[in-house]
Amino acid sequence: MNYRQRRRLVVAAASVITFAIFALDLWSPLQGAVAVLYIIVILLVAQISTRRAVLLTGAGCGLLTMIAFAFDHMGDPFGSVTVRFGVSLVAISAATLLSMRDRSARTTLAEQARLLELSHDTVIIRDSNDDIIYWNEGAQALYGWSRDEALGRSCDGLLHSDFPVEEVRSALEQEGHWSGELTRARRDGTRIVLASRWLLRRDPEGNAIGVIESSADVTEQKRADAERQRSEQRYKSIFNGAAFAMWEADWTELHSHICNNVSPGVDLADWLVDHPETLRESLARVCVRDVNSAAISLFGAPAREALLGNSTLARVPPGSEAQFANLLAALIGGADMIEYEVRYVALSGRPVDALLRVRQLPGAEPWSRVLVMALDVTERNEARARLEKTSAELAHAARISTLGQLTASIAHEVNQPLSAIITYGKSAKRWLSRSEPDMVEAINCLDHIVSNGSRAADVITRARTLAKRGQVEMEKVDLGKLIVESLALIEREARQNRIVMRVTNSGEDVLVMGDRVQIQQVLVNLAINAIQAMRDVDDRPRELHIGFEVVADATVRVNVRDTGSGISGDPAQIFEPFVTTKREGMGMGLSICRTIIEAQAGRIYAVNNADHGATISFTLPVLAAEMRQ
Ligand code: ADP
Repeated sequence: MNYRQRRRLVVAAASVITFAIFALDLWSPLQGAVAVLYIIVILLVAQISTRRAVLLTGAGCGLLTMIAFAFDHMGDPFGSVTVRFGVSLVAISAATLLSMRDRSARTTLAEQARLLELSHDTVIIRDSNDDIIYWNEGAQALYGWSRDEALGRSCDGLLHSDFPVEEVRSALEQEGHWSGELTRARRDGTRIVLASRWLLRRDPEGNAIGVIESSADVTEQKRADAERQRSEQRYKSIFNGAAFAMWEADWTELHSHICNNVSPGVDLADWLVDHPETLRESLARVCVRDVNSAAISLFGAPAREALLGNSTLARVPPGSEAQFANLLAALIGGADMIEYEVRYVALSGRPVDALLRVRQLPGAEPWSRVLVMALDVTERNEARARLEKTSAELAHAARISTLGQLTASIAHEVNQPLSAIITYGKSAKRWLSRSEPDMVEAINCLDHIVSNGSRAADVITRARTLAKRGQVEMEKVDLGKLIVESLALIEREARQNRIVMRVTNSGEDVLVMGDRVQIQQVLVNLAINAIQAMRDVDDRPRELHIGFEVVADATVRVNVRDTGSGISGDPAQIFEPFVTTKREGMGMGLSICRTIIEAQAGRIYAVNNADHGATISFTLPVLAAEMRQ
């Protein structure tokens, strides 16, 4: 039966009873005694109605009593009837007032009970036997047992509670309440952790009659706490065990100092560089909370305490402000993590170069936990500086040696055309001093003087260019043509030594990209070496054969082959500087040839021929077809 139906029933019953009492009062011979029964009506109405309705009912009942009295006994002398009438009225009034009070007390209780229902926490009331006598909706939702299933059951039997029994008992006994954590099983068997508050219930005499408890599920929170604790422990063990320096600092004051001093919109990094005093003041506000042992040694501190609380970051040597300004600006600008190389001053005064990685730890108050990882790169930087110094020294030494080579090269290269010029000059003089001067021969000699002179001038020009710029001059070179031109320069030498010179090629024009004068220098060098190697050969033809062919990888190979003495010893050795078997030799020619060829992406090597003499070969890259035009 719902509330409305119950209410209707009660109203009907109250009406019937009222009518019956009124009838009895009016017509029965009981003379007013019946009116007391109106109390039943009032109590009935009080069950289901408001205080106002109770008041109206009481007033109505009093009125009916008075009507019945007036009807039956008006004018009767004062006697027992009048007393009964008075008693009835008092009883009705008292019942009305008490019912009204009871009504409001019950309203308050109902509201409180409703509040308990509304609570998300579980509210359970137990009697002195631990049997459940109240079970709110929160309990129903959390434990999975409905109210009907839970009421009357032993709380521990139902929920398999695990809690410090003794502690709870003594707290309840002594203080009347207990709060703490306990674990319980839900209906599906899963165990949950609850933050619980228990209150001892007492009867008016002060005897314990059970417990009222309110609990909240903190399983998830506990799990998150444990997880956070585990992460913190993991972090701590990494922090303490790391081989590189780590420290954790509070940047709250640094951040607020910068925010208070810098107006929004300015370029923070530039501003801090322009205001080094603010930068230093800000850095001095950093408070180091924790450091690992690597950080202690990085800063040369005697103990952890020497760094804690201090501002490690304030130890910035002059000149390093810009790096710190950039670092701060980037972090304050919202960078999640930042990496910078900075210079600190250790407590010992030693400058320390450190590669810093700075980031705010997540889950903490902004700027309150900033983690700095620092890799000590001082040694690396010192090694780098040493290396740079050594390289500079080496470069200097190389320059000196190149200059030496260059001088030797000039001497070597110019020597040959100069002797040719002298020889041709003498010949020309002889041709002209004849009784009948041979003009043709004299002109021929002069031509040779001019070409040898230009060659010497070219060598010197190129040597100067090399000395100035250290670069080769690349141009398209027709290799076949260049070989013929080069042999023309040593034609006389060859003739004098009775050497037959031959040039062979695969029939096609081969273009290379290179330095014409330098390649010519190589060709002349190799040819003169070959001529010199054949000077003492008498038992076979003295042949100098220069051939070239395009081989794999778009390169051309030039072979300078002679029928001379061959190379004594390791053929690779002859390219080393100062290796010579000649009395007047310098041992520089082939070393310079190698430098020239390698500078033009080629290779040079020597082999002894199977029969007689040696072949010196070099390769050069062939000009790609599309670049030939
Ligand atoms: P130099 O000609 O001043 O000795 P080079 O560097 O030109 O210097 O030559 C180094 C040495 O290599 C020569 O002294 C010689 O012994 C050897 N050599 C070079 N070319 C030949 C060759 N075609 N046949 C035999 N030996 C050679």
